[in-house]
Amino acid sequence: MTAEAAFHDELVSLYRRTGEATGYWPNRFLQAVRRNGGLAYAKRLLEPQHVHSGFGVLIEKRRIDLSVECVVIDLRFQSLFTESELAVAHRRLDEAPSSAFPVTREQELFPEEVSDEEGLVEGTSRRTSVNAYERNPRARAACLEHFGAVCQVCDMDFKSQYGDVGEGFMHVHHKRPLATLKANYKVNPLKDLVPVCPNCHSMLHRREPPFDVEQLRAKLH
Ligand SMILES: [Zn+2]
Ligand SMILES: [Zn+2]
Repeated sequence: MTAEAAFHDELVSLYRRTGEATGYWPNRFLQAVRRNGGLAYAKRLLEPQHVHSGFGVLIEKRRIDLSVECVVIDLRFQSLFTESELAVAHRRLDEAPSSAFPVTREQELFPEEVSDEEGLVEGTSRRTSVNAYERNPRARAACLEHFGAVCQVCDMDFKSQYGDVGEGFMHVHHKRPLATLKANYKVNPLKDLVPVCPNCHSMLHRREPPFDVEQLRAKLH
């Protein structure tokens, strides 16, 4: 299957997943995808001035991860888009509030790091939790683009292990302790985030504060 065909299928499945997750069924989106083809329609959505109401709905429903923009910046599909189209997707995601991002399974697994309401940065009025950065698709994409989707502790790579189904899958661990973050802190995806597989991510969090990636790597047999 070509990347273009895979992208088209992904948008059709996005329609279904959005409806199931939010109760909002973007029917006009699906019609436009079917009529124009997913890639051509996504390129229209990425015109800088395009007003695209679905994006606002997804922000409100805290499911910006279901936006076309998030699919566009996925490592599997980036090559289908021009730099300026990718820049539009990144900018829209970057400008969205952290409340636009969902609570993830990772947050359930690592509540000490990631809990949303209780993990507020103390001493600031900012309603942001550290995991907003781990689940920010733009920061994630920048981190994975830099390091590759390879665990920095054990070198595990899901694509080599599981083939296509594993492509692009990886946890992203936020290295800086919550307490050290300042109110105006902005994540640096290359310095603050690191790709780790779920096993190593769990092991990093076996202690509080978490182990460093290098420490855990040294313990590996
Ligand atoms: Zn690992
Ligand atoms: Zn972590």
